[in-house]
Amino acid sequence: MPSTDLIVHRPEGLYCPPGDFYIDPWRPVERAVITHAHSDHARMGSAHYLAHQDSEGTLRNRLGADIDLQTLAYGDTIDHHGVRVSLHPAGHVLGSAQVRIEHGGQVWVASGDYKLENDGTCPPFEPVRCHTFITESTFGLPIYRWPSQPVLFADINAWWAANAAVGKASILYAYAFGKAQRLLHGVDPNIGPIVVHGAVDPLNAVYRAAGVALPPTLRVTDPGATKAALRQSLVLAPPSAAGTPWLKRFGDHSDAFASGWMLVRGARRRRGVDRGFVMSDHADWPSLQKAIGATGAERVIVTHGSTEVMVRWLCEQGLDAQVFVTEYGADDNEDDSNAGAPSSAASSTPSSEPGTEASATSTGSFTAEQGNAEPPEPAP
Ligand SMILES: [Zn+2]
Ligand SMILES: [Zn+2]
Repeated sequence: MPSTDLIVHRPEGLYCPPGDFYIDPWRPVERAVITHAHSDHARMGSAHYLAHQDSEGTLRNRLGADIDLQTLAYGDTIDHHGVRVSLHPAGHVLGSAQVRIEHGGQVWVASGDYKLENDGTCPPFEPVRCHTFITESTFGLPIYRWPSQPVLFADINAWWAANAAVGKASILYAYAFGKAQRLLHGVDPNIGPIVVHGAVDPLNAVYRAAGVALPPTLRVTDPGATKAALRQSLVLAPPSAAGTPWLKRFGDHSDAFASGWMLVRGARRRRGVDRGFVMSDHADWPSLQKAIGATGAERVIVTHGSTEVMVRWLCEQGLDAQVFVTEYGADDNEDDSNAGAPSSAASSTPSSEPGTEASATSTGSFTAEQGNAEPPEPAP
């Protein structure tokens, strides 16, 4: 029944016909709701943007300081052409949101990217009851199961401490937005100084401004970054820093890469690093199933990642499942956004009632008509 669908696929992106807006469009449009500021979901050139308030810093940084941006808190509702729109935590990166859309008795949720484990750097994923759930499937294969964070950080801390004990810097490559801040938040800062690359530093500032606790960090140009200090340090750098002269100052060092793809031995080998830490800001296979189940949705649309495998699994569960072919996923390789083409790691894989209590009505340029604040109807 395409005529009643609240979100349809268009060449520009995912489109809401009754509301006349797009969600994470990959081409410039008039009105864009943005789930989060990773570059494959937040693109330049749209006339009006709507996003979570904690995405403002990263969006203005990446899309331009002067973009027309309206922000919402989680659970706040706006009414646009009779469509009720609200944002709910996705637990992916700072400011990441699921978009809940309600119209004509139907509730749809477009979740963008998400993960379930609470990492302490953004509010954890909140299941939102809906009729139709739009999900990613970046790591939608049964092999993908993440270690718990205590296990992960014990490994990273042990690697850093062992290197520091022999006077070697520990260079840890991780995506500059999201992953680098999770690492900072989770490591033991008592082991030694923490040095951050220039690509990571501005994003740390955005997180700190949003109230996320991050330990003190140094830039290599700081007076405290002495040769002796560098030999004890953990260095957080984007993957694009690998093989550059920037690394020379650290001398003899050990290196590692933090990504969900590190679960695949071939991906680690191709990276040519000493260690691979399995860390993702996407849901693993069991978490995808759990998240989808918690929505109560009877219909599921899969946008990127292992879409075929996920659709087959969902159909086996008796759900109505389909794929929307999108242009998301570039960042989901968990590489640096400047690194260009996805690494071959990607091809090594076959291819509550939210908001019932929240009702602030925001004003701003996104909506032509502002509705009055009313609690949303209970979702199915
Ligand atoms: Zn993302
Ligand atoms: Zn994505």
